[in-house]
Amino acid sequence: MKAVVLLGPPGSGKGTLAERLADKLDLVHLSTGDMLRDEVARGTDLGREAKKYMDGGELVPDQLILDMVGGRLTGPRGVLLDGFPRTRAQAEGLEEYTAVDAGLFLELSRDEVVRRLSSRRVCKECGANYNLLTKPPAEDGRCDRCGGELYQRPDDTVEVIARRYDVYLKDSAPLVEYYEKKGILVRVDGSRSPDDVYTQALSALGNA
Ligand SMILES: [Zn+2]
Repeated sequence: MKAVVLLGPPGSGKGTLAERLADKLDLVHLSTGDMLRDEVARGTDLGREAKKYMDGGELVPDQLILDMVGGRLTGPRGVLLDGFPRTRAQAEGLEEYTAVDAGLFLELSRDEVVRRLSSRRVCKECGANYNLLTKPPAEDGRCDRCGGELYQRPDDTVEVIARRYDVYLKDSAPLVEYYEKKGILVRVDGSRSPDDVYTQALSALGNA
């Protein structure tokens, strides 16, 4: 496999799925968010250029992202792309570097995303993460590790999560359509358990 593009809203379990799939299919997992942070941290030319936009709260331009991703597509192994492409222009640009085997769309309803993400809690003292649904603390409202108070981050409130979901759907719709037209879109039901999602995705990719 040359390249698989992973699409899915925040809270869909995309990161976990990406790790398992990359491992199983021997693909290099490329997360553009991680790559950007790495370029910035290392102070590369690309990182310095990207930082100007990020500091101004702007999106890093398509070409810059393409240069960064393109530089990592030269190895012999295929890639699993997470967080890229974000736009149709990026999707088209990507194909100048590599063939794309599948667009894997991890689907999850707005209600479910809100339910999952609004259940996140963070320790005020040590920063440990909890989820009242999937990883609750032993004692209500207290950190298992240090006993600190747990709180909800301001961007994990229902209103903010719902807005983020709507923005995601609107932005990703052209990509979903793009891969659908090419006949390589694969839809996976993200409301199932992580194991189920993984199994579904694997079998869907086998048929892609
Ligand atoms: Zn703690």
